[in-house]
Amino acid sequence: MRVLVIEDERTLAAQIAQALSEASYAVDAVHNGVDALHAGETGEFDAVILDLGLPRIDGITVLKKWRAAGRNMPVLILTARDNWHEKVAGIDAGADDYLTKPFHMEELLARVRALIRRAGGHARAELVCGPVVLDTRSGRVTVDARAIALTSHEYRVLAYLMHHRNEVVSRSDLIEHIYAQDFDRDSNTVEVFIARLRKKLPANLIETVRGLGYRLVCEE
Ligand code: CA
Repeated sequence: MRVLVIEDERTLAAQIAQALSEASYAVDAVHNGVDALHAGETGEFDAVILDLGLPRIDGITVLKKWRAAGRNMPVLILTARDNWHEKVAGIDAGADDYLTKPFHMEELLARVRALIRRAGGHARAELVCGPVVLDTRSGRVTVDARAIALTSHEYRVLAYLMHHRNEVVSRSDLIEHIYAQDFDRDSNTVEVFIARLRKKLPANLIETVRGLGYRLVCEE
């Protein structure tokens, strides 16, 4: 496993690199936004540790550029203490996790392990299934780059299916994930939402699996 460390404070960068090396990761370290951008665009990393306050190009911009270029590797951002705006901006830009300075090296290692574990899942804020793109930040759904209008429940059903694409999702799973606990749940409404979604989405995207539920069929 290989990790990219981006931190302009040299002492901290060296400490992180050493801790990761001792935990048997291959480690690349860079110290400014320009080198960071290039490394992330050209290298294959299992995780990236990205300080947001960087010289030349700031960390948020670097992250946005990677995500726009389809670079999906898990990214843990390092943020200044008490700067919650920075955390929000970083997460919206596509960060998978954050750590506030100062931090314990053990915590950083634990988070890196978790990121790598989850990397088989969804690293980007945008979920894609064929021509359908669901942006989990804005709640916007497009088909062939054209926005489609969904009710809040249709959106929740689609979002759940997008998060579990190519998996069979039962009606009870859907109910569990589209309604709050105290909402009056009616399993028949799931079929209604599915029927409406099918009219708005490309044909055959949502498959009925007899007796089991539904599957969003996406090419890998
Ligand atoms: Ca910094």
